[in-house]
Amino acid sequence: MTRAIYPGSFDPATYGHLDIIKRAAALFDEVIVGVLNNSVKSPLFSVEERVNILENITGDIPNVKIQAFGGLSVNFAKNCEAKVIIRGLRAITDFEYELQMAQTNRILSTDVDTMFLTTSLQYAYLSSTTVKEAASFGADISKFVPDYVVRQVEAKLSGMNHRK
Ligand code: ADP
Repeated sequence: MTRAIYPGSFDPATYGHLDIIKRAAALFDEVIVGVLNNSVKSPLFSVEERVNILENITGDIPNVKIQAFGGLSVNFAKNCEAKVIIRGLRAITDFEYELQMAQTNRILSTDVDTMFLTTSLQYAYLSSTTVKEAASFGADISKFVPDYVVRQVEAKLSGMNHRK
């Protein structure tokens, strides 16, 4: 059984992430999407909400599982008994950081490899950050994220506005 993990913040998941998940699911017997519980970043969605969103939008892909994790991706990979870490590459700006991470991880754990999937062209510009920014100014984000995510982002932002 070949198993890969796909770690990230997914705050929130976009069509770009979903595309990588689908393509990875076609390559591996099982893909575990790892949702990073990162105390340094202050995400829009809690880790439970991000897991719920991913479960919802990947519900039709049988060999994909969603799990929250903290700490190092290589340790998460080992705990999942996965030998591969999937990462998506968009532009050259992603490359430098990703190469550094992959090389660091390779030294931390020689039996886990990083595999890069290049973004599909139609999602090359897409990031969770720009989606959140556009939504905060009232833009229609339905071209960037699945309908379920549109509703979650709208609900979250309107809840935040009410609290102001
Ligand atoms: P990070 O882990 O840096 O917080 P994200 O959660 O935004 O990043 O993304 C997780 C992974 O998905 C990363 O490998 C990132 O490069 C990749 N990714 C993000 N957006 C896209 C996209 N539009 N197309 C392909 N891959 C993407």
